[in-house]
Amino acid sequence: MNSGYEAVIGLEVHVQLKTRSKMFCACRNATGAAPNSLTCPVCLGLPGALPVLNAEAVRMALVLGLAIEGDIQPESTFYRKQYFYPDLPKGYQITQGPRAIVEDGHLDIPGDPMVRGEEGPVRIRVERAHLEEDAGKSHHDMDGKFSHVDLNRAGVPLLEIVGAPDLRSPQEASDYMKSLHRLVVGLGICDGSMEEGSLRCDANVSVRRRGAAPYGTRVEVKNLNSFRFVRQALDHEIARQAAQLQRGEPVQMETRGWDASIGETRGQRTKEAAMDYRYFPEPDLPSLVIDPGEIETVRRALPELPERRIQRWREAYGLGLDEAQALAQSPAFADYFETVAEQSGSGRGAAAWMLGEVSRTLNDRGAGIEAFPLAPEALAELVRLVETRVLAFGTAKEQLFPAMLAGGGSAESIMVEKGLAQVSDRSHIEVLVAQVLAANPGPVAQIRAGKESLKGFLVGQTLKAGQGRLDARLVQEVLSEALANY
Ligand code: ADP
Ligand code: MG
Ligand code: ZN
Repeated sequence: MNSGYEAVIGLEVHVQLKTRSKMFCACRNATGAAPNSLTCPVCLGLPGALPVLNAEAVRMALVLGLAIEGDIQPESTFYRKQYFYPDLPKGYQITQGPRAIVEDGHLDIPGDPMVRGEEGPVRIRVERAHLEEDAGKSHHDMDGKFSHVDLNRAGVPLLEIVGAPDLRSPQEASDYMKSLHRLVVGLGICDGSMEEGSLRCDANVSVRRRGAAPYGTRVEVKNLNSFRFVRQALDHEIARQAAQLQRGEPVQMETRGWDASIGETRGQRTKEAAMDYRYFPEPDLPSLVIDPGEIETVRRALPELPERRIQRWREAYGLGLDEAQALAQSPAFADYFETVAEQSGSGRGAAAWMLGEVSRTLNDRGAGIEAFPLAPEALAELVRLVETRVLAFGTAKEQLFPAMLAGGGSAESIMVEKGLAQVSDRSHIEVLVAQVLAANPGPVAQIRAGKESLKGFLVGQTLKAGQGRLDARLVQEVLSEALANY
């Protein structure tokens, strides 16, 4: 971006809550069902049907509100936001206003040093989080003759989380979105599937001359459903606005869409003034009154927040940030990892197995950790055998792990049965090393001439000669001694 300008970004993130039923009716909240099969007079918007608020959605809003240290409003109200759209049969969306169930929270993200001038976390304020209902989905035929409307999604509960314009770069916007994603998945209130639209965002962005106090005119880029699209759409939009200002043309307040196929944002409509929605209080729903006791109940049941868990693992196990974040991908994965770490006595070993062999297996099978055949205690035994050098890593990975997956028994029993224990017999290793040195006069001469990097090759040859069962550290030791005396 033109360095004379600075970006100001605020995200409105829509989180689909994974309640059993819809927001105002008893229809099932699910995807994949036959079109229009999950509907009733309420979500079809038939005259006379009355909405009833879903208590589970309210509880989930409280969970999020407490997790971002927001102010839970003792009383909030519902509004009708009116607009015409074929997938909105009532002609209005029920949302919250003027006050939301959650006001003034915050989320800490890693700041972008490129724009902040220093490393470190920054606090992004959340203006409010309000409950509302989703609309249905339109499908347009390829030949353009027909459009179809599926109302299964109409009335699905959404929590809209409105962030303050505190983000300063596309990188920060994407980090904020990632952090929010981890949070809502970790709290168990959203399934987190971005391809399915369970978490999507509208990005508001303006640019101003660097250091200029007032914000510029903002543009809203609608419906970004991946972290990458958030970054790409904002990169494009910031460059477009900066170029326009540079030419002396003002930015117009408007709503734009992101076209991933051409990598550009395109104007959709000029931004409606709030007046156009003719917001007014929903007459069919009473105010939402939250009892202080309910807040306390939810607070006590709050799980450890993903960011705190990541921090704790980093300190306790010495994990890197990326590793810890990957382990916190879902509550089930995180819990599984934590059991393996505790039972094996090695956080690092457990992390390596979880992000290596376990993840690879799950990817191959297209399954989640819930469907993984081994109990965490069983994997922990394998990790412990490797960490205590009873078992060579290569043997564990190539023979024991597959045998365990195939139902062959516990790590220890398979090891004993197949005689796979690691060889730490020094004299045996000395014999193999001597054979390898004798068979490789060329490399040996080069190492003696100073080419230390070739040592790894000889270690590899020795491990191979020992069929992957040798204690690698002992091999290195013996080899170094042998070379010194060669
Ligand atoms: P609306 O009700 O029209 O959506 P809001 O005032 O609620 O407007 O703001 C919506 C979003 O726009 C918020 O996420 C906020 O952070 C963001 N925003 C507001 N002003 C600006 C600005 N000048 N530049 C970038 N983002 C902005
Ligand atoms: Mg808005
Ligand atoms: Zn319904």
